Amino acid sequence: MSYLSNNKYSTVPDKSFNIIRRCSVCGGKSIYINSNKFRVNANGNRIDVWLIYQCKKCKHTYNLTIYERLRKDTLSLELYKGFMENDEELAKVYGTDKSLFVRNKAEIDWKSSRKPEK
Ligand SMILES: [Zn+2]
Repeated sequence: MSYLSNNKYSTVPDKSFNIIRRCSVCGGKSIYINSNKFRVNANGNRIDVWLIYQCKKCKHTYNLTIYERLRKDTLSLELYKGFMENDEELAKVYGTDKSLFVRNKAEIDWKSSRKPEK
């Protein structure tokens, strides 16, 4: 019995974080959700990668920066492929990486991001 309840203390979020930010289309604070899609922009041997978030109401997009002007050869082919193919698992990995949100100064909406307790 006791070890079963201990298993509930898993800290791995099973859902991407939502973001609260002003939406220029809706004209107020909105909740942005992970679209599970990446945007990749290659410029010479540099690469930018974003995780695309979307306003829940109007689908206005917000790009969360994952990599900025990263040297292409430092990115593994596997990771690059994952970005190009909008790998859902990968999108979840970044969508739950708190440091990424901190770097982007994106406000995580803990109310809607937290899984209901019961
Ligand atoms: Zn909106």
